[in-house]
Amino acid sequence: MEPQYRLLDAGRGATIRALTFFGFVLAAALSLATIFAVVLGHFGYVPTNQGELVTTTLVIASCVAAPMGALAAQNQYRMDCYHSTLYALASTDPLTGLLNRRSFEKLANEELMRMNRTQTTAAIALFDLDHFKQFNDMYGHGFGDRVLLEIASLSHSELRGPFDRLGRWGGEEFVILLSNLTLEQAESVCERLRQRIERAETSYKDRKGRVTASFGVAALHQNDGLAKALEDADEMLYRAKNTGRNKVVCTGKLRVVA
Ligand code: GH3
Ligand code: MG
Ligand code: MG
Repeated sequence: MEPQYRLLDAGRGATIRALTFFGFVLAAALSLATIFAVVLGHFGYVPTNQGELVTTTLVIASCVAAPMGALAAQNQYRMDCYHSTLYALASTDPLTGLLNRRSFEKLANEELMRMNRTQTTAAIALFDLDHFKQFNDMYGHGFGDRVLLEIASLSHSELRGPFDRLGRWGGEEFVILLSNLTLEQAESVCERLRQRIERAETSYKDRKGRVTASFGVAALHQNDGLAKALEDADEMLYRAKNTGRNKVVCTGKLRVVA
């Protein structure tokens, strides 16, 4: 957790920057208004009736407001870009670009709330690359990173767009939220992905390599919550690892595919 004093420092810094920006805009607006008034005075223009006074005031106000508006819009644009970058950095994994653990959990909890309303079913799958330490030792960490990227990309393309959410759970372990399907359907989606990973060949600096993955699949129940589904999926993954790897193990009937 972020120490409290750092948050206070950040808040103080932001307040000072906001006040500085306000002071700058105020000073610029007053200077512009003064310049316009002096220029008009220099050319001997003095409003003689109320109509001229209103027109003059409107002209000066517009001449001041336009650059100030442009400045504020530019500042807002920069802040929005900055926030988008920060949000992307905070919610995705830097190597694969997939959701990180925190944003995956947030999405899965949102899905749980949606399931409560729509009465649909969903499943959680955890998959872990087999003997990946050995792969790294044999081919090097760079090749290992390339494989992780490749697995992320092919998993993303195998899954069903908006219904399935993919995240990097940590290291060489990935997590999938499979929505709007039964446990059996989730199992066959994972089996298809397992086969695709098994067939895929990754190239890196004139070398080629393959990996396999083990899957644990569990139902996501509205009443039990995400933590229970993850725990069950992890247990199934453990079973897949202990019974030969490169397979999908699913809760319920404890069915083993492959
Ligand atoms: P198992 O089949 O039981 O999962 O064996 P394993 O070797 O895959 O599992 P283990 O937990 O022993 O090792 C995980 C390896 O994953 C070790 C670590 O070097 C590798 N790894 C984790 N994160 C990364 C990463 O970001 N890049 C690369 N290249 N390797 C990683
Ligand atoms: Mg592994
Ligand atoms: Mg692992």
